[in-house]
Amino acid sequence: MAKKFTPKRYFNLEVVDITARGKGVVKSEEGKVIFVSGVVPGDKISVETYKKRRGYFEANLIKIQKSSLYRVIPPCEHFGVCGGCKLQNMSYEAQLRFKQNDILHNLENLSGMILPKIDEIYAAPKPYFYRNKMEYAFSDQRWLTSEEVANKSLSIEKKGLGFHKAGMWDKVVDIKRCHLQPEPANVIRNTIKAFALENGLDFFNPKKQKGFLRSLMIRNSNRGEFMVLLQFFKENKPQREGLLKHLKKHFDIASLLYCINNKANDTLYDQEIICYNGKTYIREEMEGLSFKINAKSFFQTNTEQAYELYKIARDFAGLKGEDLVYDLYTGTGTIAQFIAKDCAKVVGVESIPEAIEAARTNAYENGIKNTFFEVGDMRDVFNQDFINRHGKANVVITDPPRNGMHPDVVKQLLFLEPEKIVYVSCNPATQARDLFLMRDQYRLVKSRAVDMFPQTQHVENVVLLEKI
Ligand code: SAH
Repeated sequence: MAKKFTPKRYFNLEVVDITARGKGVVKSEEGKVIFVSGVVPGDKISVETYKKRRGYFEANLIKIQKSSLYRVIPPCEHFGVCGGCKLQNMSYEAQLRFKQNDILHNLENLSGMILPKIDEIYAAPKPYFYRNKMEYAFSDQRWLTSEEVANKSLSIEKKGLGFHKAGMWDKVVDIKRCHLQPEPANVIRNTIKAFALENGLDFFNPKKQKGFLRSLMIRNSNRGEFMVLLQFFKENKPQREGLLKHLKKHFDIASLLYCINNKANDTLYDQEIICYNGKTYIREEMEGLSFKINAKSFFQTNTEQAYELYKIARDFAGLKGEDLVYDLYTGTGTIAQFIAKDCAKVVGVESIPEAIEAARTNAYENGIKNTFFEVGDMRDVFNQDFINRHGKANVVITDPPRNGMHPDVVKQLLFLEPEKIVYVSCNPATQARDLFLMRDQYRLVKSRAVDMFPQTQHVENVVLLEKI
């Protein structure tokens, strides 16, 4: 039988760091490493451990004995319950410093490369209301705060529309005002909820798999266009039309969509998206390029900072007009199109067929003739045949998902041996791990982070590697 954990209290410990998952790190006098949520580096705190993990303990915060100078009052009423913006209680300056240090530590400890001077992180001019896409879930059993549970009044509304509680697939934190997406996103969401309550529309219950209203996605673009997609669990024409008509009447929504999804999970990729009013897409614009975003399209969620990220990547690539570039993990081909005018040819690779379809359409509509796209898993597609077909790239831009590149893909990159590799990453730890595999053939020349996701622990980092 597993040994029962005995909680232990510690007093007056200083928070020395924040983990990549946004938890505070303290060390006890006997050298135990303890992770605590809701604290800021510099806070002096007392905690009680509740779980032993491999190499560290998890603890609950009991008291902040002395507040850090970096501590600020979170503007969002949902902070701490919602779990989305873990760093809202830290000044923006401190957030940037934490992200910069995180990248430095990963490069120092994992990359095995000699580090150049690391450039200053590119701060976000708008640390709030920067996201262009949010997804909300309906629930007839929303998450109740401890005060609400304590207050036994029967009048508490149980239906909610908001975000899944971290780690709880069946609980939704009702959101009144989210600070991440520009208005009228909150007004649209709150209007939908109010209409649903007034008209007795059923909210979804994921455990019993029943209900009517299931999820809501709101997207917006830098041209000020909004897309609203309502996901219903089943068809109920009068109720569905009532709600959509209400939205059409009260808001200027460029793309008003819905789908009816009765499968067990609420993912959209295999759903038929139906247009109720307006267009099936909205448009983002960047340096004279236009990108059509439909309900299923991937697009970086902070357009303004994505532009900065792409400019840094392009600058690092130092293209001279005659280069042949591979854009690995190209998504909807945004980077490929962004750099196309500066090189002879770009070849993008991506595993999602719809994304490649969108990349081709966008490139065509943007009048770009020197981009080529292939669908498939990088591991299978990026082989000698690929190189024979497209020619040998002298510059590679790679932007893999959070788990980084597969070792076989790194191997193939080393075999290709381009003069330059620009590695864009949303996970500094896997980026540094991948660099380690390239340390004998490549030198780390530049590194610059971009803060795409203020208030959260996430950060993007771009490095330039040159062949030794
Ligand atoms: N560079 C793009 C998107 C980067 S996100 C942009 O800036 O918009 C990473 C992309 O890698 C996603 O589109 C994802 O679908 C794709 N991807 C993930 N694993 C992959 C794999 N094994 N092979 C090919 N593409 C993959």
